Amino acid sequence: MRYEDLDDIWKSIFELEWESLCNKSKAIASVITDENGNLISTGRNKIGEYTIPNPRVCHAETEAVRNLDISIYPNIKQYTLYAALEPCPMCLGTIVMGGIRRIVIGAHDDHGGAIELLDKSRYLSSKNIEIIWMPNIYGDIQRGLQTIRELLYNEDKAKSERMLMDFSVYNSSGVNAAKILVDNGLFVDLQKCRLENIINQMIKLIEE
Ligand SMILES: [Zn+2]
Repeated sequence: MRYEDLDDIWKSIFELEWESLCNKSKAIASVITDENGNLISTGRNKIGEYTIPNPRVCHAETEAVRNLDISIYPNIKQYTLYAALEPCPMCLGTIVMGGIRRIVIGAHDDHGGAIELLDKSRYLSSKNIEIIWMPNIYGDIQRGLQTIRELLYNEDKAKSERMLMDFSVYNSSGVNAAKILVDNGLFVDLQKCRLENIINQMIKLIEE
């Protein structure tokens, strides 16, 4: 597989994540498409850059739902939310309360992922949310981009090590590929990096 083979929606998601990463925020993004597959809202993690009093809740999916202009796009139940990473309890709640009924997910999240709540809560299960998991390569790229961010910008090394272990539960290939790229000094000047090139190098290592 090559970057150009990725679904266009996912290219948009990874570009948004790159923007977060360049701002030292977590590489997690989310988009919403309408019933014809047109991109109608985006959100990316802004923890660390957001200018609200409490940026801890600036998660990608919550931002995407908040950014959806329902005066222009009222047919919410027809729309699909793409979550690069399995939504956390807050984002899952926001997605459901926002009226979205279909979620496409890139990577499993053994740590904060909350999709299991859809079966455990009577209220959530009554909403019949459709969940679609992407092929593993998307999860590996997702976790690879998150790994790059942790290795470059998380100053709490013990915490970052724990996070990489969580990422590795489902996507160790993506984590290991990112570690190699960081070790090779690929990210000395982030502004000069091309996302397409980074993802292609990552895919090559993942597929080896
Ligand atoms: Zn969240």
